[in-house]
Amino acid sequence: MWTETGADSRPSVEMPQLFERGGDLISFAGGLPDLDLLPLKELSEQLARLTRIGGRIALQYSTPHVARALVPAITDLMAREGGRADAEGLVPTAGSQMGLLALALSLGTPGETVLCQTPAYPGAAAAFRTAGLRPYGAPEDAEGLDTQALRATVARLRAEGQRVRMLYVNPTFQNPTGATLPLERRYELLEVARELDLLIVEDNPYGLLGFDGRTVESLQGIDPGNVLYLGTFSKVFAPGLRCGWIAAPVPLAERLRRTTEVMALSPSAFTQAALAAFHTRGGWDPLIGAYRERYAERCGLMADALDAELGTDGPWRWRRPEGGFYLWLRNPGGADTRRLASAVAGQGVSFVPGGHFGLDGECDDALRLCFSNVPRGRIAEGVARLASVLRGAEAG
Ligand code: PMP
Repeated sequence: MWTETGADSRPSVEMPQLFERGGDLISFAGGLPDLDLLPLKELSEQLARLTRIGGRIALQYSTPHVARALVPAITDLMAREGGRADAEGLVPTAGSQMGLLALALSLGTPGETVLCQTPAYPGAAAAFRTAGLRPYGAPEDAEGLDTQALRATVARLRAEGQRVRMLYVNPTFQNPTGATLPLERRYELLEVARELDLLIVEDNPYGLLGFDGRTVESLQGIDPGNVLYLGTFSKVFAPGLRCGWIAAPVPLAERLRRTTEVMALSPSAFTQAALAAFHTRGGWDPLIGAYRERYAERCGLMADALDAELGTDGPWRWRRPEGGFYLWLRNPGGADTRRLASAVAGQGVSFVPGGHFGLDGECDDALRLCFSNVPRGRIAEGVARLASVLRGAEAG
């Protein structure tokens, strides 16, 4: 008989406190979109219309394919970053988190090493580990992934007998650093990946959320034959719909589809139909525009407050993000941000300690602040409370 031997020691991907709200708490923790911007009235009219005209089909099981009606929406969103959606290569997911596990289970071999940009989105490392793969930090320099050093890293790992086939990267407005891999690096990375026989996994939830509307061409757009692209509606629409996709090189798509079928049988036909209707009605531009404007304002307020409170000559370093949800604060002189998180919580502010994004306990000297879902009037106050604790820690 199977018996439970104890609690699962794996950390949860999202720490429970990411969703904490209410009272006097100012949360810079959870990476949540601001859903006040969703055109709910319009959406409910569209859903009512949908249930009248195609409701029964939209409520039926479907096959593990992206619904034909949704393909133009995905094509449109990907094309905005130079990406190319080939309907045969599209695999539906319930968001990129499922996509990560599906590709790890489909294409990885237990025991193999997956190179990851670090700090890394913890859900990616967790998906790889759940599939028996071993996430390993890819070399980085000040510009991001160090494509030249990558050759030596892969050669060393392979000489040690490790199988290395995939490299995971979140190249645009990265979670957690907000950083974007420059275009030249993208070309270099893709060239080196071909040379080393590495498949690139490109996770891109935030690419369309550049504050000035600019983005950098996606890796998938440059080399669609060697990139598995993870797309999601979570950040350009809403995460509660749980709808995303993998754009895979066509020869890999069927294997991925089989895995998603085992995981979920079929995607939600209803959700896909709702998003397709939103697309047909021309919904993206106003919604993405509103998100960009709001996040740009909040990010600006947060960065200004940090400049005012922590200055540029103190021990904490950060870069002003140009898009996305996050700002990464680092103390190269060393800090224990897990301990600081408790002290800051005492002042009614939360953030995510950097160690959550390390593959092996690193990044404790950093912390992630999320600005996307903090009311504008609370940002300066939250930063002031945070900064008083950080300054106190220096003094002590
Ligand atoms: N990848 C990254 C980099 C993320 O930040 C997130 C969400 N926080 C995900 C994947 C998962 O998103 P979803 O499953 O909602 O598409």
